Amino acid sequence: MVNEFDVVIVGAGFAGMYMLHRVRSLGLTARVLEAGDGVGGTWYWNRYPGARCDVESMQYSYQFSDELQQDWEWTERYATQPEILEYANHVADRFDLRGDIQCDTRVAAATWDDASARWTIRTEAGDECRGRFLVMATGCLSSANIPDFPGRDSFEGAPYHTGRWPHEGVDFTGKRVGVIGTGSSAIQSIPIIAEQAAQLYVFQRTASYSVPAANRKLTADEVRDVKDEYAAFRAFNSLMPTAIGSKQPIPEASALAVSHDERERVYEARWDEGGLPFLGAFIDLLFSPEANETAAEFVRAKIREIVKDPKVADRLTPKTVIGCKRLCVDTGYFATFNKPTVELVDVSSTPISEITPHGLRVGDREFDVDAIVFATGFDAMTGALLNIDIRGRDGQSLRHAWEAGPRTYLGLGTVGFPNFFTISGPGSPSVLTNMIVSIEQHVEWIADCMAYLRDNGFDRIEATPDAQDAWVDHVNAIADFTLFPSCNSWYLGANVPGKPRVFMPYVAGCGR
Ligand SMILES: Cc1cc2nc3c(=O)[nH]c(=O)nc-3n(C[C@H](O)[C@H](O)[C@H](O)COP(=O)(O)OP(=O)(O)OC[C@H]3O[C@@H](n4cnc5c(N)ncnc54)[C@H](O)[C@@H]3O)c2cc1C
Repeated sequence: MVNEFDVVIVGAGFAGMYMLHRVRSLGLTARVLEAGDGVGGTWYWNRYPGARCDVESMQYSYQFSDELQQDWEWTERYATQPEILEYANHVADRFDLRGDIQCDTRVAAATWDDASARWTIRTEAGDECRGRFLVMATGCLSSANIPDFPGRDSFEGAPYHTGRWPHEGVDFTGKRVGVIGTGSSAIQSIPIIAEQAAQLYVFQRTASYSVPAANRKLTADEVRDVKDEYAAFRAFNSLMPTAIGSKQPIPEASALAVSHDERERVYEARWDEGGLPFLGAFIDLLFSPEANETAAEFVRAKIREIVKDPKVADRLTPKTVIGCKRLCVDTGYFATFNKPTVELVDVSSTPISEITPHGLRVGDREFDVDAIVFATGFDAMTGALLNIDIRGRDGQSLRHAWEAGPRTYLGLGTVGFPNFFTISGPGSPSVLTNMIVSIEQHVEWIADCMAYLRDNGFDRIEATPDAQDAWVDHVNAIADFTLFPSCNSWYLGANVPGKPRVFMPYVAGCGR
């Protein structure tokens, strides 16, 4: 017998868990199908050394339940992966979610039947269930990307991907390690791997901008101050399009409207405070190339100051616009390259030619290593959705509908796919924001929509082509107004060969 639910939700990260909680409160039946053997999504999979959030813990957490946010105690300014995973598990227990979450279940296909207005969802194991609504909480950064290097499977040492890290952890003590990639996950893990490894090679294709996290333990006083006024704290943070707040004043000026000394003072204050709000120093850093260059040059000078070998410093210094790729937040990343046991290998002009049984080859040099860490990121925003064979009205496939790039209405739905919702889907603010804020907005919108349909006797909803076209045009027009599309980022799909180049997130943010 096929299991029937009002709502089938795919994924049990922060999006899937909150969606389940909301639909239950509407009195709807639901089932969450999750590939991992536990909840937490990103924080279940990404257990690499140094993994932590880069939005402050007191902000990177749910706000739908004041009791939850009052009770939960974050211990550090930026929580570690184990602490965030513990929080996710606490939420699952506190709201009694586990009974409707089926783990170890990867969804392979979903098909809409117009006559019965139902989705049939098939798992990789061949089991089926049906739902009136299908909600994809599959995550923007959950489909690991491992480039297809020649000889990849011939490596006889230990290969790891940061997003599929072994649960028991990895001890690199005394080992020769190669890390491929210098994005966020690499920048968090490299300083810690370097403390253990006998020799670390970092293979860098593109240098990344990174600012210090200035992480520290939270004091009882600052936690109390936030908890006393949590709603006001959230409201203040939502004044920023990213919904990421800072103790620095909300910017009002162009970087070009103030003197050089004043600009340096503002950047220095933000550098010292640490974190992503560095890019909020002036109103035009992501709009004007000249304004952007002042911030970029400030960070470049910091890199030159920290890294002792000028040649290494030069290779670590990005030449592009700052912020058009995700800004990284680090603890001791650049200083790690002052260690005699750490070598930066530039693979921008001579790429990794092959992976061998003993390591990696770049040009005519071979690097023997015991372990390779693929810090090569994700097939972002669309990867997890398109891994599933999703068939909408008249049998049309999502893969086909999105062949030239994803097209959605509000990042929430797509033409041809009735009763199908994507949480933080392409065309929504998602990865450019504090994602838990964006997730809560989407979940609440979807739940309100389901309640409306039920209360008004409708059995289906689908975006209209006009609304979708207008939204896609709007998303593109706003992106084109900024510097975001100016570099080859995963926002554009540029890290995955053959992926259409479309700027996927909605730049105007989720601030309320
Ligand atoms: C290392 C790292 C650090 C991050 N730090 C921050 C941060 O500081 N601030 C921030 O705002 N965001 C951050 N993010 C983004 C982060 O992904 C989101 O904040 C948030 O956790 C996403 O929650 P989600 O539930 O939407 O997706 P996820 O947490 O990715 O969960 C999706 C779930 O869906 C499951 N799934 C996918 N496909 C299938 C399938 N076919 N069948 C069954 N299950 C499936 C996956 O197994 C996964 O458990 C970070 C991401 C990474 C990778």
